[in-house]
Amino acid sequence: MNTAKNPPVVACPQCGTEIVWSTNNPWRPFCSERCKLIDLGHWANEGYRIPGDEPPLDQVGDPAS
Ligand SMILES: [Zn+2]
Repeated sequence: MNTAKNPPVVACPQCGTEIVWSTNNPWRPFCSERCKLIDLGHWANEGYRIPGDEPPLDQVGDPAS
């Protein structure tokens, strides 16, 4: 049987660099150790909040209509 060798390419969750998903890559799904450590740091420091992803609470006004 002929399985096409077509390794999946994924984008690093941290920097967006496209990498080939390989078991040879110990940092997957990240592109490098650095990106993995950055991501782990986010988890440890502030629960992995994405800046700018949440609406600012102080701009939520009362529903006028
Ligand atoms: Zn990366």
